[in-house]
Amino acid sequence: MIAYFKEIVSGAWSLIVGMRLTAGFGLGRTMTVHYPFERLDVTPNFRGHIDLIIDPDTAESKCITCMMCEKTCPSSCIGIQAEKPEGAKKKILVEYHLDFTKCSLCGNCVEVCPVDALEFSHEYNLVGTSRHDFHFELVSRLRDKVKKLGIVPKPKPVPDAPAPAPEA
Ligand code: SF4
Ligand code: SF4
Repeated sequence: MIAYFKEIVSGAWSLIVGMRLTAGFGLGRTMTVHYPFERLDVTPNFRGHIDLIIDPDTAESKCITCMMCEKTCPSSCIGIQAEKPEGAKKKILVEYHLDFTKCSLCGNCVEVCPVDALEFSHEYNLVGTSRHDFHFELVSRLRDKVKKLGIVPKPKPVPDAPAPAPEA
């Protein structure tokens, strides 16, 4: 008989606890995010597709076209095109292709880059109707971002004038 009443009390108590939680969530602050009109901030270490970082001094990429990222990518999803402009000493990055359909987000390319030219984007809204919608050219993306953010290259420092030759 005691066990029977104990069971009733414990059942009633669990009902009260459950109702209290339901009422707390039901009457409390709304937790619904009205996507796509509202968005949540992603955590700083969120991994979207890789992206080139803007060098604030030049408003260009920091990439030195060493090709380490392309060589280290286990999925062969990076294709870099570099050219040496006439009279220049070094090659410059012309196009940086990423096939995001093959990327495993392993991070090798970001880690291996000797000049920290790559980062993971916070892009989580990707949608497409064909696999080609996930092929990105990152130099164009970087230039679009520079334009959108209104970043301008910093003026280059003027070299000091040579000291006057000592009088004879
Ligand atoms: S994150 Fe990994 S798989 Fe993706 S592009 Fe970089 S190296 Fe390749
Ligand atoms: S590893 Fe860095 S510097 Fe080298 S090609 Fe890739 S992005 Fe450019």
